[in-house]
Amino acid sequence: MEKSPNEKLAITRPELPEDEEPPSKSSFIDEASLLDEYLKSRNDRDKSLTSERSLAFLQEFFPEASLKDWNNWHWQIKNSARSIQQLSRFISLSDNEVKPDGNNHSLPLRITPYYISLLDRMNADHPLRRSVVPVFDEFIVHPGENADPLSEEHDSPVENIVHRYPDRVLFLVTGFCSTYCRYCTRTRMVAKDKCHVGVKAWEAGLNYIQEHKEIRDVLVSGGDPFTMPDLHLEYLLSRLRSIPHVEIIRIGTKVPVVLPQRITRPLVNMLKKYHPLFLSIHFTHADELTPEVKEACEKLANAGIPLGSQTVLLKGINDQVPVMTNLMHALLRARVKPYYIYQCDPVLGSGHFRTSIKKGLEIMEGLRGHTSGYAVPTYVVDAPGGGGKIPLLPDYFLGHGEDGYAKLRNFENKEFQYPDFS
Ligand SMILES: *Cc1c(COP(=O)(O)O)cnc(C)c1O
Ligand code: SF4
Repeated sequence: MEKSPNEKLAITRPELPEDEEPPSKSSFIDEASLLDEYLKSRNDRDKSLTSERSLAFLQEFFPEASLKDWNNWHWQIKNSARSIQQLSRFISLSDNEVKPDGNNHSLPLRITPYYISLLDRMNADHPLRRSVVPVFDEFIVHPGENADPLSEEHDSPVENIVHRYPDRVLFLVTGFCSTYCRYCTRTRMVAKDKCHVGVKAWEAGLNYIQEHKEIRDVLVSGGDPFTMPDLHLEYLLSRLRSIPHVEIIRIGTKVPVVLPQRITRPLVNMLKKYHPLFLSIHFTHADELTPEVKEACEKLANAGIPLGSQTVLLKGINDQVPVMTNLMHALLRARVKPYYIYQCDPVLGSGHFRTSIKKGLEIMEGLRGHTSGYAVPTYVVDAPGGGGKIPLLPDYFLGHGEDGYAKLRNFENKEFQYPDFS
């Protein structure tokens, strides 16, 4: 039944109760001052974030440098620590950390001042510190470890390409990172801490992708592609985009975490011209989600780039359910969808980082059902010898009963039956 306009009006304007005065003018909220306050807070939010921690670190260790220097990614790379001696200026090293210096270990040392500012100065067991500061254990080679555990060289048809899966390739475009993870799978790639191989070196890889029409997905990695100049990165993306059968491009990077200053407006504006573009960001611990990192992720997400995380399961760093849960929650708050948790690859000298597979399953069991499904990544073991990523999941399927019902268990370990008669 249609209502007449008058009836509607009557409904939206109720009578005031008899004993109540109409509200006085002063009890109305002052709209102008509310909006003023909002504008002020919005302007504060728009300012580029440099946390107080960063500022204090800058003033203590680089008194001559300005905030502008600190927020310049070239300055961060130029001033990264490259030896134990340089590192000892910033943190108090333990005996175990001091030993590697002077040895000819194949994985170089490099940590950006920004990331150093996140390390606990006194405690050598601090999770972030253990992931980037070399220790004596790196010289111990355990059974089953080798320099190229995933046999990437074997699956490489041309230089810098790993073609393991039917429809996608890994394209290793640089051997440089702004900060080296001590458990790096590509130690063989990054061993020289060399600046970029240069655009000419990609020609064979680009031709290979062009000639193989089955390749619909190119995963650009290294080293860290985001340590390259914008122009080189854009050249690469535009060459890949000009290949019609390349549907999606992915970039694997740790830069938003160790060098968030690199995520500039010009970079983001350039990247968004090459959609569909995905980003896989290497995160290790919730302590990495600083205001700077969150801002970098926000810029990337606002450019329409879907963000996923990759995390290596590391002993004493993130191998506890609450620690991993915190990381996954922090990632979702930063608009990053947890993608993979990797079992630590058996690269040379990585034994002190490795957990058992049982530990990985325990972490997965502790996530699924206990928190948002969006916070649950896939746990994979990259099979030594080039077998690719093998997903592992705790067993929730307990087989069939004699009655034909499937026996399943839920996250609380309660058993349920499903009529599995089809
Ligand atoms: C990890 C990887 C990929 C991508 O695997 P997804 O499961 O699709 O993310 C592709 N090629 C190689 C060689 C890899 O190691
Ligand atoms: S960012 Fe990746 S390639 Fe670079 S050191 Fe870490 S694991 Fe290795």
